[in-house]
Amino acid sequence: MKEHARQARAESRIVGLVPTMGALHGGHLSLIERAKRDCSPVIASIFVNPKQFGPNEDFAKYPRSFESDCVMLEQAGVDSLFAPEPSEIYPNGFATYVNVDGLSEKLEGRSRPGHFRGVTTVVMKLLQIVQPNFAYFGRKDAQQARIITQMARDLNLDAGIVVCPLVREPDGLAMSSRNAYLNSEERKAAAVLYRALDAVRQELAAGVRDALQLQTTLRRKLDSERLARVDYAEVVDAESFAPVTRVSKPCYVVLAVFIGKTRLIDNLYIEPRSADSEELLFHF
Ligand code: AMP
Repeated sequence: MKEHARQARAESRIVGLVPTMGALHGGHLSLIERAKRDCSPVIASIFVNPKQFGPNEDFAKYPRSFESDCVMLEQAGVDSLFAPEPSEIYPNGFATYVNVDGLSEKLEGRSRPGHFRGVTTVVMKLLQIVQPNFAYFGRKDAQQARIITQMARDLNLDAGIVVCPLVREPDGLAMSSRNAYLNSEERKAAAVLYRALDAVRQELAAGVRDALQLQTTLRRKLDSERLARVDYAEVVDAESFAPVTRVSKPCYVVLAVFIGKTRLIDNLYIEPRSADSEELLFHF
């Protein structure tokens, strides 16, 4: 992979990297489409990274569909696929980790200790191997995108980190490989995440700025779904991911909710239309 990418750089081509864990869906394809607008070649990676799963998480049963993923990547016009084995990425004696302090301990990091250390370590390795001009990440994983952007800045990485919009199913459920775990009853119930975010959007549009009030609305919606169990549901600053009391700067409404045994995350990104405007823009 290093030799292959080096060759493209030697030809002064713009190399794009789209890292994934496979079980591809429309969210992944949107990243590839975006990458193809900016770059040639576009390189996708599929690697279910053991180091970002906790001991009691779903690494072993994470959905894997390598054959159909390859077909999708080819149809999407990806130039190359990097699909290493865990033993190639983490050979015996592997001992070096990258951690973004602070941000990595909040929200997802609090619920999944060590998760972001695994993410930043593998993304750093992928960026070192491919050395792309641009690497593409989805806002579906807003905290992850923020942490990777911070890592790139802190470690003077050459790759531009591009954060792309979240892609949803027709009923609003954020596309995710883990949606495959849901049975039909749970799949219906899972749309409550989007409905809860939409209820917050409506309140904001009506002028509410108090985070506690917004959070109450969020909880009430989520609690109305029998199959849903909230892990966290908060309004946080889009830079620090610390809780806010009022929505006045760019913020995320972030959710992690169990539907049955499946843990789903979702978010709504909010920003003022301009510096001196009370009007907000919403990015689902
Ligand atoms: P994953 O395979 O889940 O690790 O995701 C690989 C990349 O795709 C990450 O940058 C994700 O944020 C992004 N991604 C996953 N789901 C979506 C979605 N529904 N919309 C946009 N990007 C997504």
